[in-house]
Amino acid sequence: MIGKCSQCLMRVNGYPHVRTCITPVEDGMIVEYEEGHDAELPLPTKEMLVKREDLEYDIAVIGAGPAGLSAALEASSMGARVLVMDQSPVPGGQLVKQTHKFFGTKETFAGMRGFEIAKMLTDKLKERENVDVMPSTQVIGYFKREGSLAAFRTEGLGRYTLLRIRARSIIVATGAMERSLVFPGNDLPGVMGAGAAQTLMNVFGIRPANEPLIIGAGNVGVIVAYQAVQAGIRVKAVIDIAKKSAAYLVHSSKIRRMGIPILMRHTIREAYGKGRVEGATIYKVDDNYRPIKGSEVDIEVDGVWLAVGLTPSIEVLELMEAGIKFVPELGGYVPMRHRNLETTVPGVFVAGDASCIEEASTAMMEGRVAGIAAAMRAGLGGDEHVKKMKETIRWLDEFRSSPHYRRIREGLFKVTLEGGAS
Ligand SMILES: Cc1cc2nc3c(=O)[nH]c(=O)nc-3n(C[C@H](O)[C@H](O)[C@H](O)COP(=O)(O)OP(=O)(O)OC[C@H]3O[C@@H](n4cnc5c(N)ncnc54)[C@H](O)[C@@H]3O)c2cc1C
Repeated sequence: MIGKCSQCLMRVNGYPHVRTCITPVEDGMIVEYEEGHDAELPLPTKEMLVKREDLEYDIAVIGAGPAGLSAALEASSMGARVLVMDQSPVPGGQLVKQTHKFFGTKETFAGMRGFEIAKMLTDKLKERENVDVMPSTQVIGYFKREGSLAAFRTEGLGRYTLLRIRARSIIVATGAMERSLVFPGNDLPGVMGAGAAQTLMNVFGIRPANEPLIIGAGNVGVIVAYQAVQAGIRVKAVIDIAKKSAAYLVHSSKIRRMGIPILMRHTIREAYGKGRVEGATIYKVDDNYRPIKGSEVDIEVDGVWLAVGLTPSIEVLELMEAGIKFVPELGGYVPMRHRNLETTVPGVFVAGDASCIEEASTAMMEGRVAGIAAAMRAGLGGDEHVKKMKETIRWLDEFRSSPHYRRIREGLFKVTLEGGAS
């Protein structure tokens, strides 16, 4: 339910492979399952209408989450002509479903709710004549020789515009996707990513379960548990195989006070039920993460929500043949980058969860760094912008200097290249 995987591909009004989780529903729509592995590649029953357009900008931003929107604001305030593309119909990235108030500092809009921040940043961009925000537009290719992007904009079912975008600098702010877990019954309806539960509850006002089990007691797991309670849902438990919760204490204490048990050193054996989740078996692990015999417990639940970590979405950077390294501390495969967030491909920058799994506040600050640096690469700006970029990098360094971010610091040390901060 965040537009990142292939689990929701269905045939809609005869058109194959429609990503239903980011396709607005319409009256009378016919939504069908596609067949399994042996099926023929389905052909559209109606003729598709495909147009073509060539576009040229100073800066192309891929992804309109907090990182991409912040990057576009900085670059456009330096006079750059900016295009911001997002595959979702609504800009804002993951912020659109975050109903809790952010804490932190004034630079990252402490006290505002996530969806309010998304709207404020988008509204500011829409006021600017040198910025185009293009929703429902997915970047699917990169032409290396001319450094241009290929994308397609969906204007309705079967109506697409293929775009070739030339830009002097590109900012990849494609975010992250949720990880899953392998266990019997993980394909039952009712098993979903915590992000999907968040989307259903907070964007569409739909209760995805009445009594779910949440797996993962990190920030996403405990925040979703809190939001579930606000939506009138009785969370049975939050379980986590780790010894200690990785969530901020303020979040986990809040849900403990609400009476939701957080069971550390616990994981799921299976989910079961006829046609949908009706229960789950959980068990305890020892210091070496081996199951403790006899610790299995059956719990009656009608949903299992997985909040077991995120993986950076780096597909576009892979197409560009950017230098990539596996750094578990940052969430998996991530691009090598200079301090100004330029990757090993000259003129291509990265920001936010695509660079390192962290949080919305750091995504915004990284977006600002990438926005300034990309505009400078495009020949804009002056000394005051170098100063601003360095100050923003210093803010990030200070933010990450707390013991909570030790792993992030260690990870960044492994992928940060020399130079590039000017
Ligand atoms: C499921 C989930 C739940 C989260 N919940 C919380 C929470 O409750 N509280 C909290 O503080 N933080 C939460 N976070 C973390 C926080 O939201 C992120 O750190 C932050 O949103 C990262 O910002 P971003 O701009 O890098 O990425 P995102 O906000 O993910 O934005 C990336 C955007 O890029 C678009 N995109 C990706 N690929 C393409 C492409 N090829 N073409 C066009 N567009 C593309 C996506 O549609 C998306 O809109 C959550 C993250 C996730 C993934």
